[in-house]
Amino acid sequence: MTVREILNIGNPELRVPAAEVSAGEISGDRVQSLIADLVDTMRDANGAGIAASQIGVRLQVVVMEVGSNPRYPYKPPIPLTVAINPSIEFLDDEMVMINEGCLSVPLRGEVPRHVSIRVRYFDQHGAQHDEIKRGLTAGTWQHEVDHLNGILFIDRVEDPTTLATWDDFATHHRDAFIERITKFVERVGS
Ligand code: ZN
Repeated sequence: MTVREILNIGNPELRVPAAEVSAGEISGDRVQSLIADLVDTMRDANGAGIAASQIGVRLQVVVMEVGSNPRYPYKPPIPLTVAINPSIEFLDDEMVMINEGCLSVPLRGEVPRHVSIRVRYFDQHGAQHDEIKRGLTAGTWQHEVDHLNGILFIDRVEDPTTLATWDDFATHHRDAFIERITKFVERVGS
């Protein structure tokens, strides 16, 4: 298990679509050590999620976890989740603007995300999952699966004036965002 270097925006690897993991490969050393490295790297960086693309590995693997993270006090918890070959289906047209950050991008910005999605994926044991995700948790899934398609959140920012450094977000936008998103989380329950 190793904390790996996280690639930054501008690195062409972040734009390369990741390949599917074959079912027989999931239990193998290559994928299992990739998962362990992703978990270590995500936790070391205090992220809510990380995709294999962000450490330069072209495989469809993401990990997510939200505990009581001071970086995201408004985020409902996500238990440690490993998603291999994840796919997303949008369940309706309801959208929410989420102020997102990314371990590969030094800015935050407002991104429209679907509120209700269905996700299908394999976990680290090769078990198949088919689940409904809502709210900010659904937003995290959409962000991470975008990485596997070579998409960064800033590609989806519709109003560039919402872009801010972490410090300026904290100084100028954080309180208003937390107030708005806390009401949203109370309404959708996640
Ligand atoms: Zn990201």
